[in-house]
Amino acid sequence: MSKKVKVIPCSGMGKVYGLMARETALKVVSELCPEEAETICLAYVVTGDAEAREKIEGFRCITLDGCPKLCAAKNVPLAGGIVAKELRMVDVAKEFKGAKPGDATSLTEEGWQMVDHIAEMVVGLVKEIGKEA
Ligand code: SF4
Repeated sequence: MSKKVKVIPCSGMGKVYGLMARETALKVVSELCPEEAETICLAYVVTGDAEAREKIEGFRCITLDGCPKLCAAKNVPLAGGIVAKELRMVDVAKEFKGAKPGDATSLTEEGWQMVDHIAEMVVGLVKEIGKEA
């Protein structure tokens, strides 16, 4: 079983912060630290897919949610995953006062800058959590 830290975004369709959560997760697992992190589709986790559950059960996860409903942070533990850190895009976005990140289907340059910033934060967390494992 893979020891990689799981980075799980909410599905966030229809909201720019959901799009940012997904883009951040993809950047981390495919570009910045593919050897140390991987992602799993939240829909599989929520619907009880056996393979998805097996991948997160007992493993440390970082959840990325678009809004305070925290769909990823709430559902990962229900499937047996351990939420080592939960991030809300909407909170991190507050650091970028006045920035316009885009809409539900595309990010602006400012939106991509926010994704880059959050992805760097997540990489730091992946390394920290990976050391503790
Ligand atoms: S956390 Fe918010 S943005 Fe993400 S899937 Fe749930 S309701 Fe949608």
